[in-house]
Amino acid sequence: MIVDRFQRPLGSLRVSVTDRCNLRCRYCMPEQEYVWLPKESILTFEEISRLVSVFTSLGVEKVRLTGGEPLLRHDLPTLTRMLAANSGIRDLALTTNGLLLAKQADALKQAGLGRVTVSLDTLRPDRMRELARTDRHADVIAGIEAARMAGFPLKLNTVVIRGVNDDELVDVIGFARIHQAEVRFIEYMDVGGATGWSAEQVVSQREIIEVLSARYGPITPVTTGDLSAPAERFRMPDGVTFGIVASTTAPFCRSCDRSRLTADGTWFLCLYAERGTDFREPLRHGATDAALADLIASTWRGRTDRGAEARLGLVTRTPLYQVDGLRADPHREMHTRGG
Ligand code: SF4
Repeated sequence: MIVDRFQRPLGSLRVSVTDRCNLRCRYCMPEQEYVWLPKESILTFEEISRLVSVFTSLGVEKVRLTGGEPLLRHDLPTLTRMLAANSGIRDLALTTNGLLLAKQADALKQAGLGRVTVSLDTLRPDRMRELARTDRHADVIAGIEAARMAGFPLKLNTVVIRGVNDDELVDVIGFARIHQAEVRFIEYMDVGGATGWSAEQVVSQREIIEVLSARYGPITPVTTGDLSAPAERFRMPDGVTFGIVASTTAPFCRSCDRSRLTADGTWFLCLYAERGTDFREPLRHGATDAALADLIASTWRGRTDRGAEARLGLVTRTPLYQVDGLRADPHREMHTRGG
């Protein structure tokens, strides 16, 4: 097992397969124009699969496919099948906005995908138009239903923003119950891309629990033993469970075993990291698996990142980057880094 300077193991890898997205959520992609990764820089399925094998040889057991919107990548089931054949992966998951999920859920299941997380910030189509600039709310719901029918364990990610969707907490729990899914409420984060972020708009874990307790009664923490999981889980009196990712008000960097590979092969050790390590050049210029493994291991051993904790320590907190800073390097965008 490889550990970083704070004894955190290299356990989980988020693999972004594209920086493109078919939504424009205001907490992630609020601008009209973006700088995209050059097409020729995007890793092939063979390159991704090989790199992931090197990661799993070093102890990574959890792999999550992300984007952008990963279902925009042509023929994702083929990559899924290649990764599912890697016996080192214990947990192969996908995070999607759901728009294209209804068409692909069965193929992904057959390819060996283990579980699915769908972003669902609102149950109201008019609100989704405002929040994500799309009229396709019904497609998301159809995607959730198709994933359930395909037999996936299902989670719903809901980013909670004050004055936008914080009046839907109870409704989202009710929706998830009907669709046999578990909700993850996510605090609004000041990551790259969230140029409109302000502390006032953050609905904290404490407030979320207060709202749900007022409706459902006492809520108790669930102990899972998985200290690296980003969400803290809770149980309501009727047995329904949900999670909260409190990255903004109660960060969990001390147990973070996650890193992120962008679609062009840049490896980031933290969602907030200023710089990443390029794997595309070594991959395309004959690096052996042993050389790639050495680069991964030595980089991880030097890791000291505690991005969200550092942000919490700031006296005045504003968006991480303004538009100019994001345009200067698209790797700073959450939709490129795979949130
Ligand atoms: S801020 Fe960085 S170190 Fe902290 S939990 Fe997120 S990815 Fe991990």
